[in-house]
Amino acid sequence: MSMLDSVQVQPMPVVMRNRCVNCSLLIPRNHPQHSLQQASTTMITILRSCITPTELSSESVLCTECIAILQDAANTFIDGVNPLPLPAFGHRSICFSCGLSILRASRTHAVRSDRPERNIILRKVPLHLVSRLERVCNACWLAAYREVRRQNQQVWFLSWGRYNDITAPASYLDNYFDEYDE
Ligand SMILES: [Zn+2]
Ligand SMILES: [Zn+2]
Repeated sequence: MSMLDSVQVQPMPVVMRNRCVNCSLLIPRNHPQHSLQQASTTMITILRSCITPTELSSESVLCTECIAILQDAANTFIDGVNPLPLPAFGHRSICFSCGLSILRASRTHAVRSDRPERNIILRKVPLHLVSRLERVCNACWLAAYREVRRQNQQVWFLSWGRYNDITAPASYLDNYFDEYDE
């Protein structure tokens, strides 16, 4: 029986592909990706405990830094007790929505809990990082902002169109209120 037999084989959402399952970094094409086949049973046990409730998939990958952290943790793991502070992440200052680094980004956005954009952004955030979500990159914020505006406009046009018995053209919906404010 393989150590991976208990790992889910369901397909991974497209937005999570090529992203480190631990720190969520979108692993650059010229950087190595490590599959779970390279991890020992102990490393997978530790990984699982760190990323709950995120599920492992047979397509899950790790960045070099995170697999090294898991290796260190496994080496010092005795009788189910780990002296290292966990979870630990190989990369910090990651946009949890797209996996890009925001360490040197000139503009990032705070994702406040009272903003409707947060619900859009959360669709792409691994579950174990939701409580750590504070900022996203400008591109992710803009995309979420535009979707919120579009949804609001569609609700408005639907009620307006029903009242006036007309249908607004789709292109008008797309462009209307598509400007950006803070
Ligand atoms: Zn990582
Ligand atoms: Zn982003």
